[in-house]
Amino acid sequence: MYNTCNLCPRECGADRINRMGYCRAPREIMIARAALHLYEEPVISGKNGSGTIFFCGCNLGCVFCQNGVISHDFAKVKTAARIISDDELISIILNLKAEGAHNINFVTPTHYADSIARVLKRIKAELRIPVIYNCGGYESIETLKMLEGLIDIYMPDFKYFSDELSKKYSFAPDYAERAAEALAEMYRQTGEAVIGEDGLMKKGILLRHLVLPGCRKDSALILEKIAETVPANKILISIMRQYTPDFAPESMKELRRRITSFEYDFVLSESEKYGFVGFSQDKDSAKTSYTPDFSLKTF
Ligand code: SF4
Repeated sequence: MYNTCNLCPRECGADRINRMGYCRAPREIMIARAALHLYEEPVISGKNGSGTIFFCGCNLGCVFCQNGVISHDFAKVKTAARIISDDELISIILNLKAEGAHNINFVTPTHYADSIARVLKRIKAELRIPVIYNCGGYESIETLKMLEGLIDIYMPDFKYFSDELSKKYSFAPDYAERAAEALAEMYRQTGEAVIGEDGLMKKGILLRHLVLPGCRKDSALILEKIAETVPANKILISIMRQYTPDFAPESMKELRRRITSFEYDFVLSESEKYGFVGFSQDKDSAKTSYTPDFSLKTF
């Protein structure tokens, strides 16, 4: 598949053996960090933490990305990122489980989806903790179908409704259409969100929406679109306030500020209209200190 990669809706057809596609991912699996993470939503992090594995490259490349050093710039900036084999990925997954991870959380996995499917087919039966696909929402249906039965929890973003915004900030003018189709497919696969007696999520969808400065009306349209696509009370939704302007380009003045309480509260009240349940964030979540240190050797 990597000879002509069409894993995501960009379908750029890159021959990843010889050159990078839009996502800048090599043919082999490349990761930057594998560690227990305590700052996901409580149903994901629990007491011990989520077993996060951060992949290099990204099929969106948002201009304000807080993980830019591993999603866009891993070839230029020195991090702990390196290429690993299938066997190494399996050891990393099993080590995270042995350390007490409540789940295995693949972060930005889209452009490695067929490698992930291949690895999960080898270990899913013995894993016995949920597997999370923590993605940007810009997903292809064919790729998601390849993952059916292997992923327990989909954790997609839904970033934009406006094609103009998605083009400007993520170079993906068809984002909303693709994200809605993907969400419907994810729901078809996992069904209703299930929380166990231990308070941890076992299956379903936890959808994330990061509120951007100046975009509260777009957020409202996103929520409406989500409610049209899946039953609002059968998924969990996380309305995120953690946008930090430090990573946005100087030239995009509108992104060089934090969101206001007025903007955030507006989006929360819109979400209540549809009966969504889930999570909100405190004002102090908008800090760069919550971004993982990708220079640390963790695997
Ligand atoms: S995953 Fe990467 S190489 Fe493959 S189609 Fe998408 S952007 Fe192109």
